[in-house]
Amino acid sequence: MGLLIGSFLNVVAIRVPEGRSIVFPASHCMKCGNTLRKFDLVPVLGYIWLRGKCRFCKTSVSPVYPLGELVTGTLFAVYAWQMGWQLELIPALLFVSILLVIVQTDLRLMIIPDRVVLFGLLAIVPIRLFVSHPLPLWSYAVAGLGVGILLFLLAVVSKGGIGGGDIKLFALLGLFLGLQNTFLALFIASLLGVLVGFATRLLRKDSKKKFIPFGPFIAAGALFSYLWGEKAFTWYWSLLTSGGS
Ligand SMILES: [Zn+2]
Repeated sequence: MGLLIGSFLNVVAIRVPEGRSIVFPASHCMKCGNTLRKFDLVPVLGYIWLRGKCRFCKTSVSPVYPLGELVTGTLFAVYAWQMGWQLELIPALLFVSILLVIVQTDLRLMIIPDRVVLFGLLAIVPIRLFVSHPLPLWSYAVAGLGVGILLFLLAVVSKGGIGGGDIKLFALLGLFLGLQNTFLALFIASLLGVLVGFATRLLRKDSKKKFIPFGPFIAAGALFSYLWGEKAFTWYWSLLTSGGS
């Protein structure tokens, strides 16, 4: 299921930033415009048996397509394995899907599409209210509204240092993760951002300032916290409390 949804997420990540419909037209070659056959659309395998080329014009197809499908399939499998059959698996897989689209568009175009984040916000509110909330509802509400308001104030004070897109994304994280895991996700994202930023500074000789997309770090922090946030906190507390003995 993850492979198939990954194939759909590829389409979303390409078409949404261009303002195109995600349903019409059917998947086609970017170069010659021929519509893909059913077999060519089979995730990963289609790419392999066409040897990464269009069936009609033989133009190379980007390896990002099968890669996106594989990553989605793998994450869906890991989430289902770690969480088991429970209602919370529905928002969890939705969360994985939204983050993967954001990672793709942020890496490729340095944008986090508003429509994708808004879709997530509209979907998670009724899910939290009526379907599943492993944590008390206030935890999600405080994380979603609180983090959003806090960042909004910071954005006003810093006069645009934080974009409106970031604020919506953090509100989304809050509603999916709850309070504690949102902070853990932001902590991991910042840590990864600093480490990677520092590494690229060292590796690149030119002192030109280069922006690094922050979306992938946020996604990594959020995906980790969703599954293992509680365990990480328990482990950390046990370290702190056993330190004296
Ligand atoms: Zn073609």
